[in-house]
Amino acid sequence: MNIAFAYIRRSSYKQIENHSVEIQKAHIQQYAARNNMTVPDEFIFIEDATSAYTNRASQRKKLMHLKERMIESGIPRVIFHEESRMDRTGYTFILDFYRPLAEHFPDNLSVYSTNLEGPLNPDDPKTKLAFLLYRQESEIKSERAISSLVSYLETDETVRPGAKTPYGYTLIEKKLVPNKDADIVTFIFYLQSWGISMQKIANTLTSAGIPSPQGKAWRSSTIETILKNRLYTGTLIWNVHKGKVAREYEFHNFTEPLVDEFLVHLITVNTTLQKVHGRLDTPFTFLNKLVCSQCNEKLLTQNASTTRNSKKYLYQYYVCKTCSYKLDKTDVHDSLMPNLFRHIENHMSSEELKSHALNYLEQANLTIEKNIEILEERLDKLISRGCIAEEQNDKRLQGLAVTLQNRTADDLKEASYKLDVLQSVSESVQSDLFFNRFKTMLELQLGETEKRLMVLYFIDHVAISPEEGSKMTFSNNILNIFNLDSAGQTTEL
Ligand SMILES: [Zn+2]
Repeated sequence: MNIAFAYIRRSSYKQIENHSVEIQKAHIQQYAARNNMTVPDEFIFIEDATSAYTNRASQRKKLMHLKERMIESGIPRVIFHEESRMDRTGYTFILDFYRPLAEHFPDNLSVYSTNLEGPLNPDDPKTKLAFLLYRQESEIKSERAISSLVSYLETDETVRPGAKTPYGYTLIEKKLVPNKDADIVTFIFYLQSWGISMQKIANTLTSAGIPSPQGKAWRSSTIETILKNRLYTGTLIWNVHKGKVAREYEFHNFTEPLVDEFLVHLITVNTTLQKVHGRLDTPFTFLNKLVCSQCNEKLLTQNASTTRNSKKYLYQYYVCKTCSYKLDKTDVHDSLMPNLFRHIENHMSSEELKSHALNYLEQANLTIEKNIEILEERLDKLISRGCIAEEQNDKRLQGLAVTLQNRTADDLKEASYKLDVLQSVSESVQSDLFFNRFKTMLELQLGETEKRLMVLYFIDHVAISPEEGSKMTFSNNILNIFNLDSAGQTTEL
């Protein structure tokens, strides 16, 4: 008989019948007996329900204690009561618990779960998907979701439900493997990250003689489909419908990525910048960035053209309506662009730039994590308040608690999205991917949208007037485009 440890989590607030500590213990003992193991009482670790929502595995005291005891005692076996008890936060169980133990017990670590045959293999896609689903609230009663998931995984179309193999991949032995078109996918994301429109990308590919996925000319809708597919960053998006409610699950590192997540975040940033400041695809590179230094009004644009002797003449001006003057667009651009490029060049070659950026990101990270902690505590309180209201049959208070729970959960989702963005921005700064983007582009002949993006990224505003010339104010931190600071707001009770 092999001695094994066991781990049990108390359920939150109410002991759901099937999950009382005694029942969990019994299940574990039966499982142990079936598999020729024995679990002494003092080898069972019981975690109190610390959070009804999420808790990183490393913050679970008993779990960490269990890890230490396994290492001390040299016993590499542990049984959990269902995977749901192991992890509701995605991968932290693997990162904080499983991996360190696997390093210590490289050959014989055996982590069992009462609902799995044989020890857990964290690299098995089934296990990954199981964790993913368990992470979510109990709404999806996992048995059913998991069994449909597993049955789908066991069919031939393992990769994605009801979808054909995405362009750029070939399905080999149930795995998506990048093929010769993979570079085209990367290229499409790259072009879009520089603000190139989908129609232009389509035209570029067609005129380069590259066949579309259908073997014809490229259309912007095909480009859009590719840009929207998160699988290209390695993330599987899974939609589960339950009655009228559709839920979306994200599953990172599902497949070999063709595109850095960072590019996707940049594309989102570009879209937001367009919404705030106007089109990227405009002849007016400084649209909405010029302010009249006499009256402080934003300059408007005027676009007229005439045809004389079958030749087209363009008249494009920046205009102050209040002071009634016009500035020729080309003159303005010719005088401002060199100034901007000089700034980017100086800025990018500064020694401290990278360490400043990393410092800033570290601060932002602390703020967001703190915020997440506050939100999680608040959610916990709201859930327990809701339970109390339900027990006291106070419908009004219960309704209020639910409303606030939903709002807090949304804030939490927003904050963890920011954390994702921050993570990928940090990586891109660390690997120089981020700043090299701007360095290399200075050596290239820039298109209109690329110039426009530079203006939006680097310039706060330009004060200008015919008498006083121009004064450019640069934004004090280029990383502000990722809007990481705004993750500080929380919903107050
Ligand atoms: Zn004016």
